[in-house]
Amino acid sequence: MQKFIYLDIMVTNKTFTMLKPDSVENGNIGAILEKITASGFRIVAMKLTQLTNTDAEAFYAVHKERPFFGELVKYMTRGPIVAAILEKENAVQDFRTLIGATNPAEAAKGTIRNMFAESISQNAVHGSDSNENAVVESMFHFSQREIF
Ligand code: UDP
Ligand code: MG
Repeated sequence: MQKFIYLDIMVTNKTFTMLKPDSVENGNIGAILEKITASGFRIVAMKLTQLTNTDAEAFYAVHKERPFFGELVKYMTRGPIVAAILEKENAVQDFRTLIGATNPAEAAKGTIRNMFAESISQNAVHGSDSNENAVVESMFHFSQREIF
């Protein structure tokens, strides 16, 4: 029990993000990272990488029955992404606020998706939706010695 509480305190200040292939293709890596760091997030891990089909299918397994799954896997594997772990108090919730709604048409003005996303499918960035998923997604992309 003691150990669980300790772990929970450790993870609530981190979230996982990907700058998706459209962000890289459109030359928006710098602008998006600037917005993220200006909003108080510290980058504790980061890499340019490309998902294989197997990677994308596993990462988005929760959506495998959805009609957009095939399109999502194709989009997420078509070019490099930037994967990063971000640290801030209340990181998961604050980062979801910073990126805005899944559909950029519904994303609040000034959010990353409002500024950089093209559509509900090609929406520029990923952000973890819970502390548990932040840990799972971070471990999917990074080994312990890549996290600072
Ligand atoms: N997506 C899509 N069509 C939809 C809903 C989602 O193509 O109708 C894609 C989009 O890239 C989204 C990802 O699937 O970011 C994961 O969907 P989720 O509902 O988890 O949205 P998110 O958590 O990224 O806001
Ligand atoms: Mg999601």
